[in-house]
Amino acid sequence: MEVLLSEPRGFCAGVVRAIDIVELCLQHFGPPIYIRHEIVHNPHVVNELRQKGVVFVNEIDDVPPGQTVVFSAHGVAPSVRAAAKARGLQVIDATCPLVTKVHLEALRAAQNGHTVILVGHRGHDEVIGTMGEVPGRAILVETAEEAATVDVPDPGRVTVLTQTTLSVDDTAEILRVLRRRFPALGTSQKDDICYATSNRQRALKAMARDVELVLVIGAENSSNCNRLRELATDAGLPAHLISGPGDVNPAWLVGVQRVGITSGASTPERLVQAVLAALGPRAVRTLCVAEENVTFALPRGLR
Ligand code: SF4
Repeated sequence: MEVLLSEPRGFCAGVVRAIDIVELCLQHFGPPIYIRHEIVHNPHVVNELRQKGVVFVNEIDDVPPGQTVVFSAHGVAPSVRAAAKARGLQVIDATCPLVTKVHLEALRAAQNGHTVILVGHRGHDEVIGTMGEVPGRAILVETAEEAATVDVPDPGRVTVLTQTTLSVDDTAEILRVLRRRFPALGTSQKDDICYATSNRQRALKAMARDVELVLVIGAENSSNCNRLRELATDAGLPAHLISGPGDVNPAWLVGVQRVGITSGASTPERLVQAVLAALGPRAVRTLCVAEENVTFALPRGLR
């Protein structure tokens, strides 16, 4: 069996930055460091940090007064910032700058009297944070069907924004419906779906032409991992989202000559290498569609 590795894959600049921030907090302030929700959606990353003294909490009220709390890469609503301030917490913000960009666009649109239609997945941390920037002014749309029926107070004043980790193709379809319905539709100046999401999807599409099975390595609750698996399925391939080598079912591999592997933006590369080692292919090739050299600066207080 041969393995084709999709590139780019794995950690994006926002995830690298978020993990660096937590490591620096541990060094500078010492444990415990509190993080509201998972810093990134990967249990391996979360467990490693937990072992180093990070305490993950669901709510700001779970953080003892005076402690340091880190906001995850997915961003938070202003109400969460206010709760942290009221509790006297030291806040370190690991929100990805590309998520912050969407928050600012939502604010700008609302200030201009627009209703914000946010395309995204209900209940995702990033969506909750972005919607929270403009309470009462944002409507969530998940599908093209919802886009076809969404009701807004003034059809001439509508701006559409998207979650950063959506399917590029599905989102394009939703945007087509919205543009048809609202000819004056405002959009962000630059795509909200981030470079890492679109690069990983483009790389997977290129790889899918050449393999019989796709393994996406990452977490069940990772939006971009799920989109990669769906993309492979849409290409007509059997595809499985696995968290590591222990999830590989030997029955999947029977008669398969070429396996494609990719990983989501919050998946450590060592998990990809562990899966490779477990498969023991006779050859490994990499299919690269884009070079990534994006980096984001650390928050000022940690530089
Ligand atoms: S997937 Fe994109 S938006 Fe999310 S953390 Fe990575 S770079 Fe930022």
